Amino acid sequence: MSREITRIGVVGLGTMGAGIVEVFARSGYDVVGLDADEAAVERGRGHIEKSTLRAVTRGKATEEERQAILDRIRLTESFDDLADRDLVIEAVPERLDLKRTIFEQLDKLVGPDAILATNTSSLSVTDIAVATQRPAQVVGMHFFNPAPVLKFVEVVKTVVTADDVVADVESVARSLDKLPVVVGDKAGFIANALLFGYLNHAANMFETKYATREDIDAAMKLGCGLPMGPLALLDLIGLDTAYEILDTMYKQGRDRLHAPSPVLKQMVTAGLRGRKSGRGFYTYEAPNSPVVVDDALTPTVDGDGSAPTRPVHKVGVVGSGTMATGIIEVFAKAGIETVYVARGEDKVARVRANLERSLDKAVARGKLEQEARDAALACVSGTTQLDDLADVDLVVEAVVEDLAVKTVLFEALDEICKPGAILATTTSSLPVVDLAAATRFPQDVVGLHFFNPAQIMKLVEVVSTVATADDVVNTAVALCHRLGKHPVTCGDRAGFIVNALLFPYLNDAVKMLEANYATADDIDIAMKTGCGYPMGPFELLDVVGLDVSLAIQRTLYLEFREPGFAPAPRLEHLVTAGYLGKKAGRGFRAYDA
Ligand code: NAD
Repeated sequence: MSREITRIGVVGLGTMGAGIVEVFARSGYDVVGLDADEAAVERGRGHIEKSTLRAVTRGKATEEERQAILDRIRLTESFDDLADRDLVIEAVPERLDLKRTIFEQLDKLVGPDAILATNTSSLSVTDIAVATQRPAQVVGMHFFNPAPVLKFVEVVKTVVTADDVVADVESVARSLDKLPVVVGDKAGFIANALLFGYLNHAANMFETKYATREDIDAAMKLGCGLPMGPLALLDLIGLDTAYEILDTMYKQGRDRLHAPSPVLKQMVTAGLRGRKSGRGFYTYEAPNSPVVVDDALTPTVDGDGSAPTRPVHKVGVVGSGTMATGIIEVFAKAGIETVYVARGEDKVARVRANLERSLDKAVARGKLEQEARDAALACVSGTTQLDDLADVDLVVEAVVEDLAVKTVLFEALDEICKPGAILATTTSSLPVVDLAAATRFPQDVVGLHFFNPAQIMKLVEVVSTVATADDVVNTAVALCHRLGKHPVTCGDRAGFIVNALLFPYLNDAVKMLEANYATADDIDIAMKTGCGYPMGPFELLDVVGLDVSLAIQRTLYLEFREPGFAPAPRLEHLVTAGYLGKKAGRGFRAYDA
């Protein structure tokens, strides 16, 4: 490090500032934290005391260590107390005028070598830097929420930031046990640029009542393994902060997908700022509490059984691929009599063999009793004749994702199945209503979008078309519960909930790579360590398959006609070149054969 940095200042002790103070104090730095008035200082102190206490109760720190951390922190309302600081990090609300004023003030106060950093999520660091006489010593130091937990830090280098300043800030970040990545000064940097379009889209889904807040959040948690759903995350970020970030990103990039969802503005105006105010998309026990309490929007658990359903004793599954085999296993394990239809005796036998292998594996791992395995297998029979589905109560089709093939199948099922039988499709991208229209009873057609591997993934999207009868949706939901799955309900729109929220984000990551803003490795690290995603976008794209991803993105683009949904040219080119991801040995990365 070219300068000695031991004395830290933090301006603003809100959601982020309080966490940042704690992070530095934990790593042995001497920290002065400042906020505008006494009440805000006390609120900040409360934050820090509670958070460090939590660490003690969770056994992550001893009481002595906690005391030592608190002893290293001084909180103040007086700017003069920051005069001797080596590095000051600003974390006041996301407003340029306010930040510029604070930087002007700090610039006059601190020593000539001191570094000034902003925790801004979206404002131009350059705009803030030029408010000072030391623009070369101004950087972005963008922590993630909650700062004590998330390891990622974006170090933002403007065109005038000095290299030694960037290097010093990187080493400070490393000394905090964080993972710094240096990025250029572009609204949203890496993580927020990829995150906020997705969050905004989720807010729009909520606003248009496409799905409930609980279903949107459950879908992304269970369908993508995210640590939080988007609406709960918006509440954690703070709706006022989220609004400002989106507004800035929109103004800089003019991407309609960043135009803040009107519901955000309305909630902020009404004082619903998320967790910090006790109410946002959800209602919390108290301001700053993570505990969600029931409110007017909380769905009533359908425990009274009043919603009418149709009996489901026997089901049919059409198809012999990965999804069909998984779905058959799920039904069998739930003890539901299942007939599956494959095109040829060889395929019937292969499905049976795969099913046996999978159940045997579960027994070997101690996850299934031998008797339960035998009982499950006894529930299942295979056939090559669709006519054998004449007496089932519900059919799930999981044949190839081709509208013509599925339409012919639905026409046939319409002829064969008994009146009142429910016809379900697992399609992930075709309109369910097209299949409903191929039958005489469109009210009996529903989407049951299982996720791969169906045996493991808990989520099922239950998709109703404009024609689907209520009792059919209720039956599908009740069936999912019986299968031990978590159903979410949504309308018949391209991508349903999960793919509509996931793929545009993946596509944006490709565009960011194409624009040479960051490397695939840095982008993957940002999303994993900054947002807690189980995989980075490029890892995920390579696993899903670039051809599959491109097809989904095209479907979304064609349905919504959002310019921002247009598939990234790089994705198109990789598919054209045959670099389809892991399965081809090469996608965004190369894999050993
Ligand atoms: P916040 O509203 O929770 O806290 C802001 C704090 O600044 C408050 O305590 C407020 O009293 C104080 N403040 C206001 N005016 C001040 C002044 N003149 N002098 C000193 N203190 C003043 O906001 P936040 O969510 O902590 O966001 C702070 C910054 O961090 C923003 O730039 C935001 O974009 C960024 N950020 C936020 C998140 C997040 O998830 N919330 C994550 C990373 C970065």
